Amino acid sequence: MKKRYDNLIQCSDHKWAPFCIVCNHIFNATAKECFRLSGEGSRQDDWLCPDCFRKGPHNLKETDLHAVCIHCARKLVNEMTKYEPPDDLKA
Ligand SMILES: [Zn+2]
Ligand SMILES: [Zn+2]
Repeated sequence: MKKRYDNLIQCSDHKWAPFCIVCNHIFNATAKECFRLSGEGSRQDDWLCPDCFRKGPHNLKETDLHAVCIHCARKLVNEMTKYEPPDDLKA
């Protein structure tokens, strides 16, 4: 199990790195598209597939989500089509 330290995560590939949250579908690469949820303050951007985004980040269970280091997250979303959330859904 990965251990969190403040806003760092210990990644087996990248050592200590800032983490962000991705949904299972992005983590398992079963999604082809993803929405970027821009992080506030010192938080990193999180990524959700369109289905999870439609459900709403606050309606997702902890088991739907994975904390991954930002380098791994970038690799995961690299091949996916990325969307910015519509303005009225930000904030
Ligand atoms: Zn998802
Ligand atoms: Zn990593």
